Amino acid sequence: MSDSCPVCEAEFLENFFSIKQVPVIINILSNTREEALGRPRGDIDLGFCGNCGHIYNTSFDLSLLDYSGEYDNALHFSSTFRDFASQLVDTIVNVRHWKGSNLLEVGCGKASFLQALCKRGGNSGIGYDPSIEDQDWTPVGPAGGKIKLVRGYFGKEDVSVPGDKIICQHVLEHIEAPADFLQDIIASRKNSLAHSAYFEVPNVLYSLRDFGVWDIIYEHCSYFSPTSLAFLFNRFGYAVDSCEEVYGNQFLSLHAEFGAEKRHLEASDLGELTKLVSDFSQTFKEKSRDWRTSLEPALSGEKKVVVWGAGSKGITFLNMMTDGKGIDYIIDQNPAKIGKFVAGSGQEIQTPEFLVEYRPDMVIVMNPLYKDEIAHKLAGMGLTPEVVVA
Ligand SMILES: [Zn+2]
Repeated sequence: MSDSCPVCEAEFLENFFSIKQVPVIINILSNTREEALGRPRGDIDLGFCGNCGHIYNTSFDLSLLDYSGEYDNALHFSSTFRDFASQLVDTIVNVRHWKGSNLLEVGCGKASFLQALCKRGGNSGIGYDPSIEDQDWTPVGPAGGKIKLVRGYFGKEDVSVPGDKIICQHVLEHIEAPADFLQDIIASRKNSLAHSAYFEVPNVLYSLRDFGVWDIIYEHCSYFSPTSLAFLFNRFGYAVDSCEEVYGNQFLSLHAEFGAEKRHLEASDLGELTKLVSDFSQTFKEKSRDWRTSLEPALSGEKKVVVWGAGSKGITFLNMMTDGKGIDYIIDQNPAKIGKFVAGSGQEIQTPEFLVEYRPDMVIVMNPLYKDEIAHKLAGMGLTPEVVVA
């Protein structure tokens, strides 16, 4: 990866945090423990740009990533996430007035969000994603909404594709050159330059401030702060309406207009971010030490410990903290993951119901937002383990 900042092109970057030899893809699970342990690995060396407040992995090597395989990072098995997505659809339709419009989603995944926007707002929506099947226009809902899906990547040559409302969720952090990506979207709209955009990415402030260290994964080359995300959009001519921390501060949610008069933005204060960056390495060492102490009873076989949530956070936690020892199972509610193994550290994924027989002494919950939901489910199965948030 280039040494200059991918958002503002500033040359000077401060490397402040490294984790060596982590599995490069964690959202593709393995069918055997051996396959999981042998997954390709790479280094994470985070650099901080003091000009725009962006953070990225200066050792990122795209050639290590091979996304063929069953990539699964769906979050909708959690009711907490479903509630968030549903409220967001309401806000976009009723507060932002995206009704009867032409929507275009870049990287739509299984398109459930796009579908909800079309259904509730009577919108027409086209979604692009390399992992979906083509689908011609299909009506959704009584309000006149319809949806079309295209298997593949959206590009600057797609000028005839309608869409003056652009949606892009949890894509930009995977893109090695986010500036080019945004410029391509603008170029594709050359027939009607004015458009609105809704972008969502993980919030690096959460990773730094609330110790969301388990969100630091190789698949993400970029880590946006509110300042760097707004900077990127301003740089290419968008007027940024809002750039807010949402979902328990874990995501950044940006609304911007292209072709509108630019708003005057307050000069960004990078003070908090700079301090968080300089403290992070020390905080990480202290937290890692505390976790290793907490996990000693599991390592010595005195206690049975499981992790709940075989997503990015859970898999990163197991890789950073266990070296594959002490914890044998990770729990997940997604049926497609059951019986598979975690990349790098090799734990087996099991159902919540598996715990009735296994009877764990401790359940480590990876996301504080899901703690109540999980504790409730455990109680419903007659289990009373200690429930702690990582
Ligand atoms: Zn920068």
